[in-house]
Amino acid sequence: MAKSYDRLVSDFKSLGITMGSLVAMHSSLKSIGQVEGGADTVIDALLECVGPEGTLMTPAFTNCFEGSKNLDPFEINSTPSLTGLISETLRNRHEAYRSLHPTHSAAAIGRLAGEITRDHLKATPLGIGSPFHRLYEQDGWILLLGVGHNTNSFVHVAEVMAGVNYVHVFCWLHLNWRPSARFIDEDGLEQILDIYECPGDSRAFPKLNSLMRERGYLKEGLIGHAPSQLMKASHLFEVVRDALEEDPAFVLCDEGNCKACDVRRASIGMPARPSIPPPDEWQRAAQDAFKAF
Ligand SMILES: [Zn+2]
Repeated sequence: MAKSYDRLVSDFKSLGITMGSLVAMHSSLKSIGQVEGGADTVIDALLECVGPEGTLMTPAFTNCFEGSKNLDPFEINSTPSLTGLISETLRNRHEAYRSLHPTHSAAAIGRLAGEITRDHLKATPLGIGSPFHRLYEQDGWILLLGVGHNTNSFVHVAEVMAGVNYVHVFCWLHLNWRPSARFIDEDGLEQILDIYECPGDSRAFPKLNSLMRERGYLKEGLIGHAPSQLMKASHLFEVVRDALEEDPAFVLCDEGNCKACDVRRASIGMPARPSIPPPDEWQRAAQDAFKAF
């Protein structure tokens, strides 16, 4: 039987979504099972649960790197989100805000939507001042709806906050992507943005699940048929920071299994974390690490 709006509201409340909260959602619509009204019903049910004082945000990533398949420059109103149908539906709503960023924009609806999505071009994709960092600053929650920690973008923010060196290594050269992206600015002009602190690979992030569970930081339950988890961004930061202190490669894939992570691993132990943009000397060191791979 198709899941109704009322059933979803009830499931979200049972999971722990509360009135007034800020929630960032990563989701798979299919995993819920059939939903009456589709993605819009999921969004409406969540907005009902957080209420008029609450905020709902989603990634609306586009990966408009130079060299990627997305050949057109990012345009805030028309470039589709690559992060799922719920995200694409949310960012298309008339009341939604979207951050202006060519690779890692976010969309939001609610009280903090404008605050969270402002000035993304002044930040790095998932660095300090980005929408997902503002989620942390505003003591927000992360909802994984039918998806795992491999989609949990805040872990990339936590890597930056924890100060690991490898965040400065652009690790997608093997896909022919370059660390720059084109976009249409607010005056309708095409611009190029250099991308620093580009998020890397996230396939090892599910290793964080047992650490989160051990500390009692995960609320877990079903939304329709979708196994789902709710957690505070601040708790996830604490776990990532502690794990990286012990092993700076903890959220990278095992050696030899992933080009992106191996290129990044090579930078662990390099000189201390530089400023943004990194000095030329540091850029050269990162290039050498790539060539050595
Ligand atoms: Zn990897």
